[in-house]
This record gives sequence, C-alpha cells and structure tokens, in this order.
Amino acid sequence: MIEEGSPVLLIDPRGKRYLVRAKDREFHTDLGILQLGELIGKPYGTRIESHRGETFVAIKPDINDIIAKMRRGPQIVHPKDAGIIIAYAGISPGDTVIEAGAGSGALTLFLANAVGPSGRVISYEVRKDFYEIAKRNVELAGFSERVILKNRSIYDGIDEERADHIVLDLPQPENVLPHAVDVLRPGGYFVAYTPCANQVHRFYRALEEFREHFLRVMTVEVLVREQEVKRECMRPRTMMLAHTGYMTFLRKL
Ligand code: SAH
Repeated sequence: MIEEGSPVLLIDPRGKRYLVRAKDREFHTDLGILQLGELIGKPYGTRIESHRGETFVAIKPDINDIIAKMRRGPQIVHPKDAGIIIAYAGISPGDTVIEAGAGSGALTLFLANAVGPSGRVISYEVRKDFYEIAKRNVELAGFSERVILKNRSIYDGIDEERADHIVLDLPQPENVLPHAVDVLRPGGYFVAYTPCANQVHRFYRALEEFREHFLRVMTVEVLVREQEVKRECMRPRTMMLAHTGYMTFLRKL
C-alpha cells in the first residue's frame, strides 16, 4: 500500500521514470499534471492519469531506481561491483558492516539492502558535503534505521568494537588495516575497492605486515558485457563500461 510520504516510481507511456513522494501536491510533466495525493491508500501498481489523459503506472522503487535518480557527489560504485562485493564477502541479513567513504551513498544502499532491517551499516565520510548527500540518499531509500553515518575520517580509527565486515572505497585502504585487525570478527571480510592498479599494489605491500591476520587475498575486476538481441543477429553491444575498479578481498583469521 502507498502511504503518505512513501517514495513512488512513476512510469509514463514512453517508459520515462520519475521518482516522487506520495503527497497532496501537483506534479508537472510534459504529458500533463498529476495529483500525487490520489496515490495515497492505493496499492503499488496502480495507474494515475494526468489532466491530459495520459496514464502513468506507480510502482515501488527498488534501490536501483533510487540510485539512478538520487543526487550524486562523488562517482558511485557500479551495481556490478556492489554485487560481487556482497556475494564474495557473504554479506547477509543481520550483519554489521563498517563502510568508508560513504560518498554518494550508493554502495551504502546496496549494503543496507543486503543486511536487512536487523543489520547495521556504519559508514564514515570525511567530507561534510558528501556526508550530507549520503544522509539524504539513505533517508530517500528508507534505510535511516539501519544506517549510521559518521562525518569523520576512518583513518583515525574505528569507534565500533566489533564488525562482521569492513568495506572500503577510499584512496588508501591500507591505512585502515591496523584498525581492522582489532575490530573484524574471525571469518569476516575486509574489502577494498580501488580504481587504480598502483593502489592495489601499495595495499599488498602494506599488507605484508598484517599477513598473519588474514586467510587469503584475492583481487578481481568485473566486466559485464550486455548482448544486443535482434531477430537476425545476437552480438555483444559495441560499447561497454570497461574499467571501474579493482576489488580486493581478505578474510580475517
Ligand atoms: N562508494 C561511494 C563512493 C565513495 S567515493 C558510493 O558508491 O557512492 C570515496 C569517498 O571516500 C569520498 O566521498 C571521500 O570524501 C571519502 N573518503 C576519503 N578518505 C576518507 C577517510 N579517510 N575516511 C572517510 N571517508 C573518506
């Protein structure tokens, strides 16, 4: 059921998407004006007509819709990378995950979605402006109860005593290793996302000092090649998103 204030994804007859909240107000589009108050109390999937007689479908936005439409600060972690982080680290409902930096909050939302209502994501963000953006996006996704954002540098230490996993997207993940060995539970994962090969290399050199605390180290990148499927020909799309980042996984002993 759509409640007052709930996020709603409206899809117009051309497939264009609009992320709105169900409130008693007008929403202007090039296909006419919608009265968003009409959505309140209706089930998701309901149709709403603009004053010009165009029909919009109102569905419940998932986190991909929210991430696609939300405000961005820094470059976000792409879903293909978030997916493998969650799968390889076995991030599960009820887990406590420490994250940094929150940035725009995209990875924060994927993590919050994976840990569920009984889990927690504690995310450090050093920049006040990005902290504010991430906070807004967490609220938009309805995850305020399971996400705690902190406006400070994780390089200075981790406040929490225990975590199931630590997931980092910041320039020098090796600076977090000394704190991680005290906080990570045995069996938990330390994941570092870094765009550049020299960052991975620098991380491995720093890791030598902490090697006995971790079971195995693995670095991967993920390439997703979408296919163009036509009646007479199926082939990979000409353009693809090539490099985003390397993901390094360590398991705590
Ligand atoms: N994963 C995020 C994007 C993170 S961009 C997303 O999907 O939206 C990297 C972020 O790390 C930046 O916002 C930067 O301000 C932050 N950062 C850099 N060093 C940090 C530190 N020491 N502690 C906390 N945040 C840090």
